[in-house]
Formats: sequence, C-alpha cells, structure tokens
Amino acid sequence: MTHLHMNKDSELARFLDKLGTGDNISECLTCGACNSRCTWFDGQGGPMPRQMVRMAALGLDDQLIKSGMLWDCLICNRCTETCPMGITMDVVVRKARSLAGAADLIPEDIQKGMKNRLELGDVNGLTKEEFVETVEWVSEEFVDEVEDDDAEIPHDREGCKFLYLPNPRELGINLLHLTAMAKLFYATGETWTMSSHHTDVTNWGYFVGKDDIAERMALMVVEPAEKLGIETLVLSECGHGYHVLKHILPRVIGREPGFSVMSIPELAVEYAKKGILKFDPSVHPHKIAYHDPCNIARKSGGYDAPRELLALCCEGVVELTPSREDGVCCGGGGGILQDSGSTKKRMITGKPKADQMKATGLDHIATACLSCHRQLGELSKHFELGMKVDTVASLASEALILQK
Ligand code: SF4
Ligand code: SF4
Repeated sequence: MTHLHMNKDSELARFLDKLGTGDNISECLTCGACNSRCTWFDGQGGPMPRQMVRMAALGLDDQLIKSGMLWDCLICNRCTETCPMGITMDVVVRKARSLAGAADLIPEDIQKGMKNRLELGDVNGLTKEEFVETVEWVSEEFVDEVEDDDAEIPHDREGCKFLYLPNPRELGINLLHLTAMAKLFYATGETWTMSSHHTDVTNWGYFVGKDDIAERMALMVVEPAEKLGIETLVLSECGHGYHVLKHILPRVIGREPGFSVMSIPELAVEYAKKGILKFDPSVHPHKIAYHDPCNIARKSGGYDAPRELLALCCEGVVELTPSREDGVCCGGGGGILQDSGSTKKRMITGKPKADQMKATGLDHIATACLSCHRQLGELSKHFELGMKVDTVASLASEALILQK
C-alpha cells in the first residue's frame, strides 16, 4: 500500500497559500463543482480539477507532477467559472508545471519550440533572413491580389501606426492568411509594418508556467516594438497570445508597454464602425457558427469583436450551446495542440466541441484563434462533420469591399 505524505510546507502549497482570497487554495471547500465543469475527463484520462487543487493544497507536489493531469489540463478555466471560492485553475496548473520536478515532463515539441523562440524569435525556427525573404515574396503576390503596384507588406519600418505580429503558421504553412491580413491593413489606409525582430505572437513560456520565460518572450515583442515607435500592436488571431499580450501584459513584464494592443478582428471592427472598412455579407450567403477561444473569451473577456466582425461578413452568426463564459474548449488548449503526439488524445478532448459543432446543423464555423482553427478542422475531419473551418479575420478579408 502506498502512503502519501502530506506536506503543507511544499513549494507549491506555500506559493498557492500566499495568494489572496479567490486564488488561495487553502480556501477550497472540496465541493467538486469544478469537476462537473471539466468537459474532457472521460473515465480513463483527463484532469480532475478538485483532485489537482487538493493535491496542491496538501503539498503532494510529486504525486501531482507524476499524475499526468498537469499536461492533460487545457488551462481553459471552465472549472474556475463555478468555483464558489474563485480558485483559478490556470494559476494552480501553471505553478505546478513550473516546479523543478515537472520540467522533464514538458513535451519535447514545446521544449524545442521554446528554444527556437528564445534564440530566433520564432517557434518554428524561422531566421530573420528567412522572415524577410518570406514577407518580401508574399508582398510581391499581394500587389496582384489588390491590383495596386504601390501596395506592399512592409517590414521594419519606423513610426507606423500599426505593427502586425503574426502567428508562426502565417509565415509557414498558411501564407494565404498573411495575405488576407495584409488586405485588411491596406484597406484601412493607415501606415503599418511587420518586424523581423519579433515574428511570433505565441508565448509558450505561459504554457509551461515559467514566468521568467514568459516575461522574456513578451519583452522580445515589446522592446523592439517600442523601438520602432509604433502606436498599436495588432495581434494575429491567437488565443493565448491575446491573453498574454493584451490581457495580462503589464503583470507579465512588470510595467505598461509604450503602445496599445488590439487583435486584428478588433481593428477591423473599429474601422468598420468608422465607415472605413466595408464588407459584403453576400460573399458568405449563409449562417456561420462561432467558437469562442477560451483564452480570448472566458479568460480575457474578448467576446464581442469577433462576433461583430463575423456578423458583417455573412448572413448571421450562430451560437454554439453553451458559449461565451460557459464555452467549451476546442480540446487543443494548454499546450496539448503543440505536442505532436497528442492527435489521438485531442480527438477525446475535442469530442464535446465536435458534438456542439454537429448540433448546429451548419456546414461552416469560424473562430478567432489559429490554434483553435487547426483543432476544429481536425475534429471536423475525424468526426466526419463536413464543416468548413475559417478564422473570422480571413472571412472578413474575403468579404472586404476594396475601394479603389
Ligand atoms: S481542462 Fe479546463 S475545466 Fe478541466 S481542469 Fe483544466 S482548466 Fe479546468
Ligand atoms: S469548485 Fe473550488 S472550492 Fe469546490 S472543489 Fe473545486 S476548487 Fe475546491
């Protein structure tokens, strides 16, 4: 029989017990409300939030690390919504992931991506020279796209109004998405640029709970942006990138940045409201469902802009049930999507989302995160849903009316 030794003075218990009301795990009532909210525990695998909190509170750090639940958790905070004591699951899980004993368990792909990001500025290892080459090549194609010889995708230009921070997929397997975003910037008529110094909206330091690495990765974006003297950093559609760089940035870097931050759907909605961007909803003459990325919606309050933009570009937005604060994770959050060995598991974590997608009876769904986009696409294929999956900003770009 295995004996567990409680240690209320363990590193994890001491850290979490220092937190104020709402995050202090010693206030856990053991009620189990959190368990009923986790959508992926399937009886064989998956996190049990109450158990994770209790293990942390009792100082069972090693047992928690070895349980496998830490990397199963999607850090979606759906369980947090109904906790009567407001205990925030991503605080508990991220801190536990950061413990020395947990470092060896960081999935290999995430370790490699973090190394690339810290050394080169891009999780996929894109060098500065490759970045410039790629952007200049896409820029040449962009001239044809908008039929304007003066059009371009600028990089490393000082004093622009906007700096666009892309998702690494936009500089690799999804170059068309970059062209689509360039079209939106072009239509605003404002000055904008990209930067070869920081090419990546992601922050995997956040996934692994290493606050020092999360800070370094955030500063790799913030400091060069300040040097370029831009007014607003515009984020590609990325859930955790939005959460880190927009919602909690001052906490991550210990100060306010010298610019404002918004996502590309937020920018498009703002310019639509000003009457500068115009969209033709007949380009998508049908209803489209919307999936809330947990990091943008529940964790950062970004519910409205993607819906408002989508509504301008199609016949109507259909809500998944449940959605918004109650939204169900796509099944790819918390770093699981970035682990190349997780495909089979992600079809279990994503089953509740696939059920929601099917229940709409629609054949088209949009989201505002390129990671959710990938996971939803794989779910559609695996569960034979026949649903087309797009990002909201790419649909907006397709429906954009370019005024010559
Ligand atoms: S997966 Fe989401 S709901 Fe489940 S324990 Fe983790 S944060 Fe909570
Ligand atoms: S819902 Fe909150 S108080 Fe209840 S068991 Fe979960 S963490 Fe503890």
